[in-house]
Amino acid sequence: GADRTKNVLILMSDTGGGHRASAEAIRDAFKMEFGDEYRIFVKDVWKEYTGWPLNDMENQYKFMVKHVQLWSVAFHGTSPRWIHGVYLAAIAAFYAKEVEAGLMEYKPDIIISVHPLMQHIPLWVLKWQGLQKKVIFVTVITDLNTCHRTWFHPGVKRCYCPSQEVSKRALLDRLEPNQVRVFGLPVRPSFARAILNKDDLRVELELDPVLPAVLLMGGGEGMGPVKKTAKALAESLFDKENNKPLGQMVVICGRNKALASSLESLEWKIPVKVRGFETQMQKWMGACDCIITKAGPGTIAEALIRGLPIILNDYIPGQEKGNVPYVVENGAGVFTRSPKETARIVAGWFSTNSDELKKMSQNSLKLAQPEAVFDIVRDIHDLAGQRGPLADLPYDLTPSFTNLI
Ligand code: UDP
Repeated sequence: GADRTKNVLILMSDTGGGHRASAEAIRDAFKMEFGDEYRIFVKDVWKEYTGWPLNDMENQYKFMVKHVQLWSVAFHGTSPRWIHGVYLAAIAAFYAKEVEAGLMEYKPDIIISVHPLMQHIPLWVLKWQGLQKKVIFVTVITDLNTCHRTWFHPGVKRCYCPSQEVSKRALLDRLEPNQVRVFGLPVRPSFARAILNKDDLRVELELDPVLPAVLLMGGGEGMGPVKKTAKALAESLFDKENNKPLGQMVVICGRNKALASSLESLEWKIPVKVRGFETQMQKWMGACDCIITKAGPGTIAEALIRGLPIILNDYIPGQEKGNVPYVVENGAGVFTRSPKETARIVAGWFSTNSDELKKMSQNSLKLAQPEAVFDIVRDIHDLAGQRGPLADLPYDLTPSFTNLI
């Protein structure tokens, strides 16, 4: 009937922290806005239902970011539509049954993809199932600027773009204006709507109450030149003349346990906190005055919401490269790969160059889009409403691809 709870299936993959973070942001926003009207499933469908290579995407990704050259080749090598089209078609044919079973198990009314490789196959499955017109399929892009063409599929109901730049690319790639919306990157509501007081956070997190603080991190996996940068900062933030620190440092290593234990074993001249994977990033960002990170879209969007100036010190070739000009050209931060240069900039911000820190902080806040995730779920809700009362979907009656072969 009309009032039944609708099923929303969010397709993600645990490659890095960003896709999961966006998926969970959307799930939480649905709950906050619409309560029991929707039942949300966040699924790494490939991992659960298919064989290699897609279920191993996470490990392949970790392997490839360690061998960035290879990742670069893979990224650019699959860019022309016909190559990835053929590649995905081959995979789809091979894994169709499992993916179909994986999708249909949840009887979704709405499918949301937050992953560049999760448009083609699910849309084929819907077609085979005769459900193309009945199930709302949307894509939420999680790259801020340049993004891989597999994100764009003309068969989607909506393609949510985080920036104008991405929407331009979507339109060039055969999407119609009525399919494209630009709201921003979805950030977890607990983050976007947090009301935080820096002084209180410093007490809670046991940080020095007055010293300016720099947050150093490298995405969910703790990647980039974190260790060298930490060492350089410990030097530059120590005022030798007066024999006292200019600032303090928080290093969040994510899932990189080797990095955390290696940093914990060092002696520091300034106050330093080394942490592993943190679940309350909004608090750490809220307690600090600037951030150093690789160019991950999730971390960038979050830092903007907290008004943090950003030093980008690395990016994953291909997908993250475009996030650099997005930050730099908008005056919200700088890019340098040099740990020494990074340390020099932060020391300047914390002493003679504090005006620049303030200016960049204001620019960050101007770019921030904390409401993006709510705009996205409200738009999806409107789409679901336009469909009128969704009849119970005939999942079991439709001749499926599985039955045809
Ligand atoms: N993150 C977190 N705890 C950590 C480290 C990272 O919750 O200890 C989150 C971070 O807040 C962001 C995401 O993981 O939401 C990282 O996403 P990003 O796009 O920056 O990089 P990725 O890890 O996907 O390469």
